[in-house]
Amino acid sequence: MTRHPPRQTLTKIHHHTPPSLAELLETFSGVCRDCGVCVRACAFLAARGAPGALATEVNLETGVGLNAAFSCSLCGLCSSLCPRGLAPEALFLAMRQEAVRRGQANLSPYRGLFAYEDLGGASLLSLFLPPRPGGTVFFPGCGLPGTRPARTRDLFRALEKALPGLGVVLSCCFSPSRSLGLADRFGKRFSALSSRLADSGVREVVTACPNCFRVFKDQGEFAVRTAWEVLAENGGLFVPRLSGEVTVHDPCPLRAEPAAREAARSILASTGLSVVEPPGSGEKTLCCGQGGAAHLAGPEAESWRAQRAGQAGGRTVVTWCAGCADHLSARMPTAHLLDILFDPERALSGRARVARSPFTYANRLLLKRWFQKRQVGRIG
Ligand code: SF4
Ligand code: SF4
Repeated sequence: MTRHPPRQTLTKIHHHTPPSLAELLETFSGVCRDCGVCVRACAFLAARGAPGALATEVNLETGVGLNAAFSCSLCGLCSSLCPRGLAPEALFLAMRQEAVRRGQANLSPYRGLFAYEDLGGASLLSLFLPPRPGGTVFFPGCGLPGTRPARTRDLFRALEKALPGLGVVLSCCFSPSRSLGLADRFGKRFSALSSRLADSGVREVVTACPNCFRVFKDQGEFAVRTAWEVLAENGGLFVPRLSGEVTVHDPCPLRAEPAAREAARSILASTGLSVVEPPGSGEKTLCCGQGGAAHLAGPEAESWRAQRAGQAGGRTVVTWCAGCADHLSARMPTAHLLDILFDPERALSGRARVARSPFTYANRLLLKRWFQKRQVGRIG
């Protein structure tokens, strides 16, 4: 008889004691009814078949079938739709991990991403300025400081008003290793990061990047909030008065985080801008196309961005993820929430100051210097 694990074990992509790949394959082979609900929503599944069918194609003796998982965005839309309570992204992550463990994954398309992660965790770009009593640090991640250093400084100043004594940690959260299935590499790197945070007295992490939020929340070692929740709850933000109509793009790592989604919307709405919700929003949000680095594995991921462009109908898309903002901006007018708050005229006319690689690395270095200078004398 087929076992039906409790819903929670199927809907959490990262769990301290996750089911094994063999258990997931058995579950999907038995529980998925190929009902078509997720397949109709996802170009990857439409091209490759329903999750249950993909599970039956995996051969654990030879490893055949595992590599299909690299074309999944790990976005979780299928989980939010599945009437059987299945979480296909958990299956596809476990398949990636097994392909990597066996040495059967082709990781060459991701070399640049691993180099980006290496630099983000290296001493050249990282910085640990511990909090004063209060135990909270701002963790802006890699993308926002690189592309928008001025907006990162603006956000830190606003957060500091709400959270006096706020510390800063510049580092990668190592999400690329995690989502590409390099479980050992992620485990070692995140463990070193979390030990250093704990030794510095950190109890809470405030994130600006949805992927960092997901990593810290799933690892469960620190309390974690998005910067948007802090600002919406505590004020400390000068909000420009604006008019016009925009639409929004919820980053998929925050799909199951209503507090973060509502906080970002309330800040955006307080500017006076009218927000038009697209069909795929909130818990049913679409991937921007970069989730799980699927855009580097094959063409299917492009369909997410094309769908979002169609839904936007020419309106500026406002999002609160630097990665989503940059990926979507190639196909539609897009602004980061911080561009709207701190550089609204340029943001709404599509001219926000956004740096591209390799200038992003210089920006991160300069931002590190700015934080170091600003905090001289306050660190004991
Ligand atoms: S791309 Fe998203 S919707 Fe499609 S299978 Fe992967 S997680 Fe599910
Ligand atoms: S929605 Fe659920 S049951 Fe239906 S095909 Fe997708 S995974 Fe299978």
